[in-house]
Amino acid sequence: MKLAILGATGSIGQSALDLAEHFPDYIEITALTCGRNVELLARAILRHRPALVAVHGPEERAALERLLTEMGLAARPAVLCGEEGLVAAAAESGAEVVLSAIVGGAGLIPTFAAARAGLKLAIANKETLVMAGDLLMPLAARAGAEIVPVDSEHSAIFQILGGLRSPSVRRLILTASGGPFRGLTVDDLERVTIEEALNHPRWVMGPKITCDSATMMNKGLEIIEAHHLFGLAYDQLEVLIHPQSVVHSIVEYQDGAQLMQAGPTDMRQAIAYALSVPDRWPLLPDGSTGGLPNYRPVDLPRFAFNQWRGHLTFEEPDFATFRALRLAEGAGRTGGTAPTILCSANEEAVELFLAGAVGFADIARLVEQTLNALPARPLTSVEQALNLRREARRLTKSFSLDLRR
Ligand code: NDP
Ligand code: MG
Repeated sequence: MKLAILGATGSIGQSALDLAEHFPDYIEITALTCGRNVELLARAILRHRPALVAVHGPEERAALERLLTEMGLAARPAVLCGEEGLVAAAAESGAEVVLSAIVGGAGLIPTFAAARAGLKLAIANKETLVMAGDLLMPLAARAGAEIVPVDSEHSAIFQILGGLRSPSVRRLILTASGGPFRGLTVDDLERVTIEEALNHPRWVMGPKITCDSATMMNKGLEIIEAHHLFGLAYDQLEVLIHPQSVVHSIVEYQDGAQLMQAGPTDMRQAIAYALSVPDRWPLLPDGSTGGLPNYRPVDLPRFAFNQWRGHLTFEEPDFATFRALRLAEGAGRTGGTAPTILCSANEEAVELFLAGAVGFADIARLVEQTLNALPARPLTSVEQALNLRREARRLTKSFSLDLRR
């Protein structure tokens, strides 16, 4: 299968390239993109020989061209940059499948480009679904673009349902690890550090989603993501804290059966399934292939994490302490531009927190302030979503200056 990876230098992108490395018979890379990490992109180009690559801007393009010259590559890829480059990588590289794995709203334009082109879209970039799912899902349907989830919870549900919809579903239960601050109080959260927020107990991921997991905004965004992907009402979407992260989500049917999907805390399973569905590739060694390095199924009786040995636990989330979860669910229920504003304000607030400009508890505060300042309206175009993203980020930043006074 011919694959374009948007965000190839990120955590999801690198996991996908690892799959391509170990399953060259299944995956051929046609395009790769990065933001600024051109050294890592150059290494991937050397290994996977895409026809087209795209980087952030002219400076990164010049730096990458220099690296490729030093490497003495005989056949060089076309090197593009900016929005045009991302769109070309998404829609014009000859790929059949596009893995959308840029972080944040920066992924919106190329993700829409892939959908518009009618390509199969393996979507990790949840922010695009949150910001503009009302536009993306119908566009994909019109263009004949199949959308498959990569996010582990949504992949779990997709694996259980065998598709995106099933009329007999009663509820979806998204599991959440609870993040590094599970069990802390509101007061405790005022004092946590950047380092502590980036220390996720179960998953290794990029900094933005790791921070979102610590505030639990990530699970809030995932509720909205599930609403769009599976076409269910918010009353049918729930969250349970499951610190072991063995069960990746649960589908409850109308007859009371609850089907769960379990697996390693390794995104390569969900990425591979999004690419291979309805088949499953032999990620575990099967005699003919060596399988993926450092990849094993969960050994249930011997499974151990913290105080839990061979035990899986489930509990209700602490909505009062982790306010971001309720804010996101509320924005989802309001609909229209409310999730666009929430997602953009959160992106800005997380960047401010990771830059040391605001405290951890300020993230939810800033998101709430921005949501209150911008009235929700119907969402009618991608341009509107992008303008609103700029406006929400600007407002969040200005509110953060008041916090510091
Ligand atoms: P990372 O931060 O690890 O990687 C982000 C990627 O996006 C990098 O390739 C980065 O390029 C690129 N990028 C960032 N900004 C821009 C920009 N302005 N223009 C072009 N490219 C840009 O993120 P993750 O891999 O962790 O996450 C990617 C997406 O997948 C997110 O939406 C996240 O929510 C989702 N996801 C991730 C999971 C995980 O396990 N990591 C699990 C479930 C979902 P560079 O570094 O070169 O600047
Ligand atoms: Mg997830």
